[in-house]
Amino acid sequence: MKAGPSSSLGTPCLRRLARLSAYIEREVPSPARESIRRHMAHCADCRVVLRTLKKTIALCRQAPKIDPPQAVSKRVLAVLRRELARCRPPAP
Ligand SMILES: [Zn+2]
Repeated sequence: MKAGPSSSLGTPCLRRLARLSAYIEREVPSPARESIRRHMAHCADCRVVLRTLKKTIALCRQAPKIDPPQAVSKRVLAVLRRELARCRPPAP
C-alpha cells in the first residue's frame, strides 16, 4: 500500500520513518532499532531520507541560535502540529 499519490514510500517505510529522529539519536529500543536497520539495508528510498535527515540535523546544530518573534513561533508551531496530525502513519 502506498502512502499517497505523490509518495513512493509504502506503509512499512512510513512506520519506520516516523521513528527516524529517535533512531538517529539512539533513542529507539534494540528490537525496533534492528528492524529499522534491516529495512534501511534494502530500502534505497529510506536510506535517502535517513541521509538527508542526518545532514539536516548536522546543519541545524551548526546554525546560530536565534529567538524568533513570539508570533512567528506560535504560527510555525500551529502549522507543524496540524501537519504532524495529518501525516501520522497508520497504526501497526
Ligand atoms: Zn523504506
